[in-house]
Amino acid sequence: MTAETTEISIRREGRAGRITLTRPKALNALSHAMCLAIEAALLDWLDDPEVALVLIDAEGERAFCAGGDITAMYDEGRRGAYEGARQFWRDEYRMNALLAEYPKPIAAFAQGFTMGGGVGLAGHVSHRIVGDSTQIAMPECGIGLVPDVGGSLLLARAPGRLGEYLGLTAARMGPGDALHCGFADHYIPETAWETLKTTLAETGDPEAIAAAARPAPESPLATQQAEIDALFSGERLIDIVNALKASETEFAAAALKALSRNAPLSMAVTLEMLHRHRAGSLDIRKALALEYRFTHRALPEGDFLEGVRAQVIDKDRAPKWQHALDAVPLAAAAKMLQPVRDAELAFHDLSAQETHAMKIGFIGLGNMGGPMAQNLAKAGHDVTGFDTQTVTLDGVATAASATEAARDADVVITMLPNGEILKSVAAEVIPAMKAGAVFLDCSTVDVDSARAVAADAAAAGLLPLDAPVSGGTGGAQAGTLTFMVGGDAAGFETAKPLFDIMGSKSVHCGASGNGQAAKICNNMILGVTMIATCEAFALADKLGLDRQAMFDVVSTSSGQSWSMNTYCPAPGIGPKSPADNDYKPGFAADLMLKDLRLARAAAEGADADTPMGQAAMALYARFVEEEDGAGRDFSAMLPRFEARGRG
Ligand code: NAD
Repeated sequence: MTAETTEISIRREGRAGRITLTRPKALNALSHAMCLAIEAALLDWLDDPEVALVLIDAEGERAFCAGGDITAMYDEGRRGAYEGARQFWRDEYRMNALLAEYPKPIAAFAQGFTMGGGVGLAGHVSHRIVGDSTQIAMPECGIGLVPDVGGSLLLARAPGRLGEYLGLTAARMGPGDALHCGFADHYIPETAWETLKTTLAETGDPEAIAAAARPAPESPLATQQAEIDALFSGERLIDIVNALKASETEFAAAALKALSRNAPLSMAVTLEMLHRHRAGSLDIRKALALEYRFTHRALPEGDFLEGVRAQVIDKDRAPKWQHALDAVPLAAAAKMLQPVRDAELAFHDLSAQETHAMKIGFIGLGNMGGPMAQNLAKAGHDVTGFDTQTVTLDGVATAASATEAARDADVVITMLPNGEILKSVAAEVIPAMKAGAVFLDCSTVDVDSARAVAADAAAAGLLPLDAPVSGGTGGAQAGTLTFMVGGDAAGFETAKPLFDIMGSKSVHCGASGNGQAAKICNNMILGVTMIATCEAFALADKLGLDRQAMFDVVSTSSGQSWSMNTYCPAPGIGPKSPADNDYKPGFAADLMLKDLRLARAAAEGADADTPMGQAAMALYARFVEEEDGAGRDFSAMLPRFEARGRG
């Protein structure tokens, strides 16, 4: 395919598909049309046997690409029209993921300014080349955005706290820093680039890149790493600001000055994104999806329009941000990262080329198991399911029995109601499973049942894992569950790609049963804090304290918890939660009662004193079994308390 526009040149040259940005006067700023043209070319070349590799470069000496073209977004946004910007970002991010996941080699030659959207083009491909003029940065916080185009992933992967430093200050990286921070792979003097491109187009062999590479220039950031790690390790923006203020070095003063220019809300969200990426399994799609939650809201709710006005339109460099540097409410940042309904990102499915397909038997296809099995099938795995109820799911083959689903499977997954059922299913399928296969139970069951099943599976030469989940049915559908995993490391490694499909985080907690132990302890805390939050709201009501004021104080003070900040039980307050949907369950009170009973059984078995867990269990038992709690969300404790006095 050959396409020439004034903004971009797309053509075939020898064995190479070539993409050249041709807007040097605009520092090759990336427009929506350019994103779509790049995507179309990449898709075209995917199955073209003549194209062995792709080269991306740009005209002009000053910039490879200094960012996205944001003026059109600003004009529309000022008129209250947000969809154009959102569509641009969705299309751009899909193209970024395609670059990152492309099955053929892609070499990007990034001279001069390579910022924002430019990092999305040059930062994820297989061969990232920099030269002496390269200046890479993620300056989005300066215009009220957050590092996007997958940049948050690169920042999260940078050594130590360099990601926080680069994201918050928008500091520029020369070639040595870019290599040190993981934004580039090869330093090649720019005088050698044209010859290299010719060789690559002639041979189609990317080997020539490594051969042309020279030793990395020095990285100033590497020498400042210890100081940066100390200054930027704070949990929240305010912690970092305080650390910078307390330090007397010139470096800290310069960093503080940089922070004082940028949008506080954007910086607080950037920090939160980096922390979330590091806690979970890092991958480009999850990074882009998290970034999009912010950019989707950036115009109506963020500081983006004000940032563009001050930096690009009026150029007064005096933006009026929504929050002060030392006063971004925790809830404001959390709100910008809430899931976006009806506008999730879509990505190209390259799984046929990429996935090492496993044969999976999936037993228990209920509210949780059904969507989990479907997500595995969608990702290219060969899934056969069984349930005692008749369940049919797109993409999932149906077996006539649990044994049939388990036979010859590389991994058998169970998602069942309780420990008794798990034990009976395990007794049936373990003898039918092939040696070395993984027996992966994701149900929430008692620790003793989990350990008994694991012992039987191990004795039969299998790799047992107990991996209960949190995240509810919404997480099961969206593939964003958290897995708490007990069992040995080899089993965990085998199952890890499956956790990454069904969830966004998996934590290996140690030996068999420890996954269940982690889940039970977590949910005991959750039950207790939800009750505490609900009773405090009911008390606040009776003392005449406004619920919004109560939320604003507690969600940023020492009484904060997930129950208050993310899943607020008061309707109309805080982020959207089941309270806003008449307490229809996200997480049903019945299931909370089940988990609290498991906690009690575990505490009895281990002789642990858990008075708060006991009290929470007794309250949920009364709520579900004697009052109107059955079938309602577990946060419906609030209307229960509201209606009562002390008697
Ligand atoms: P569910 O009742 O919707 O699904 C369980 C499925 O197992 C049902 O379809 C049932 O027919 C099937 N089943 C029962 N006995 C079987 C057998 N012998 N062989 C094959 N299939 C059998 O329950 P769910 O909400 O999907 O929960 C499953 C597990 O996940 C539970 O352990 C639960 O505690 C846990 N969990 C649920 C949530 C949630 O929000 N629903 C959240 C976290 C964890």
